[in-house]
Amino acid sequence: MTDSAPDAAAPERRPGCALCPSDPSPAGLSLLPARDHVYSDGSWRVLVNKSALRGWLLVPTLRHVATLAELTPDEQRSMGRMLSLASRALADVVGCEKTYAMMFAEGTPHVHFSLVPRMADIPDHLKGAKVSGYNAEGPALEDDEREALGEQLRERFRSLAGAQATR
Ligand SMILES: [Zn+2]
Repeated sequence: MTDSAPDAAAPERRPGCALCPSDPSPAGLSLLPARDHVYSDGSWRVLVNKSALRGWLLVPTLRHVATLAELTPDEQRSMGRMLSLASRALADVVGCEKTYAMMFAEGTPHVHFSLVPRMADIPDHLKGAKVSGYNAEGPALEDDEREALGEQLRERFRSLAGAQATR
């Protein structure tokens, strides 16, 4: 390692951070499995969380940043687009009525939204802010289940993002 400036094409990362990709460049991201890299736009990444609830997504910044107050103008602009695109893709793939969006960055101090599918049959005791109770009620999805979902979401993102780009 040297003290030289980071490569301008690669966002800054913090070694040891669970949400900083080991190589955040486009080439590095392309090597990740679908569950860890459903989609990215140069500012944000979408991945399938290790949750008991199928479809619980994480949407972290590519760059290591601790608070929403530190987002760059590009990150601010693309945040809404990414959350909306991911919500559309989730509705199409898992059939949720809507999505919950939460941002705490407590366990891992790297800005990331939890985007949670709100299914029609959600039990009352898991509605709203209590939705994280899903993770106490069962084991997390296996990697192969997360990978299969990641592949489905990747396909959906490609067509949704492509449709937006041509409008
Ligand atoms: Zn990080």
